[in-house]
Amino acid sequence: MTPLAEILTQRIAKAGPISVAEYMAECLLHPEHGYYATRDPFGAGGDFTTAPEISQMFGEIAGLWLAQVWLDQGAPAPFTLAEPGPGRGTLMADILRATRAVPGFRDAARVHLVEASPTLRGIQRETLAGCEATWCGSVAELPDQPLFLIANEFFDALPIRQFQRDAGGWRERQVAVIGGRLAFGLSDPAPIAALDARLADTRPGDIVETCPQAAPIIAEIAARIEAHGGAALIFDYGGWHSLGDTFQALRGHEPDDPLAHPGAADLTAHVDFEALAAAAPGLTALPLTGQGMFLERLGITARAQALAAKLRGPALESHIAAHRRLTHPQEMGTLFKTLALMPINAPTPPGFAP
Ligand code: SAH
Repeated sequence: MTPLAEILTQRIAKAGPISVAEYMAECLLHPEHGYYATRDPFGAGGDFTTAPEISQMFGEIAGLWLAQVWLDQGAPAPFTLAEPGPGRGTLMADILRATRAVPGFRDAARVHLVEASPTLRGIQRETLAGCEATWCGSVAELPDQPLFLIANEFFDALPIRQFQRDAGGWRERQVAVIGGRLAFGLSDPAPIAALDARLADTRPGDIVETCPQAAPIIAEIAARIEAHGGAALIFDYGGWHSLGDTFQALRGHEPDDPLAHPGAADLTAHVDFEALAAAAPGLTALPLTGQGMFLERLGITARAQALAAKLRGPALESHIAAHRRLTHPQEMGTLFKTLALMPINAPTPPGFAP
């Protein structure tokens, strides 16, 4: 048993079952034993890898997209360049390097990193040494000024609740203790007004997921973009309108039972981009676009060829594999999606169908 499994087993045995959201929050961010709170989970020695860790091309293209949108909106200065959930800081470092070529962008940018994990804040400080940045714990602390925000695999780490439809309403999926071990259970059924809209597209037995933290976070971001201009560019796996159980664990790059190693495995759920867009009614959500399509439209192939010209042997092979991994439909190309939230009436940016 992991130390956190012992703590949770004792607590649940005494006080009763907890929601999947409570379980997920403890596993990821428990101050002593939480997954993100205690380790650097990225890369070959870790549990998973992410697009910015796969290739510098991801951050370069995302950065130049943000800079183009900033130019389209009249190059406001100063502006907030923010990233929630920056991991190792690699994406922000690549954005800052690529945008050096855009006159005025770096001088006007005030870099803000929203990070809950002290361990990862330390790593981000090292990656971004020499660049001025401010760290905060919540998007609510971002300044009241134009906001250009990027998030990659941040929303999938936010705790979800799961509800199973039942003849008598909805039963919440819970984490209980059965025979001394953590196990899934279900609450008694109850009608849930917030899920009324899901009665039309579900049948008894179906599971729907909600992410209670996502809408308030989007609302904070949207308020700044609505008032002062900017854009949010969000990458994650998921789709439009969620249905079914997507709660999953990864450990050592392999799928794991989400209850088997609390605090020692990464836990995520697919992102429901429809719910994110619905939380920003005052902004335009551009059509949800596959990550591969977005990167291709922004010219990743030309960038990949330019970088390839300087590479030989194994370095060239891994560069070609990285390009494929980011864009190919059988890899991250279609599972991962790109959502852009823009001020109403802003010019349509590159990468999205009109
Ligand atoms: N964007 C990075 C890392 C994704 S992992 C990349 O693409 O490599 C998720 C990140 O979100 C980690 O940095 C984690 O510590 C952070 N995080 C998770 N929950 C958070 C929360 N509630 N508030 C702020 N950061 C959070």
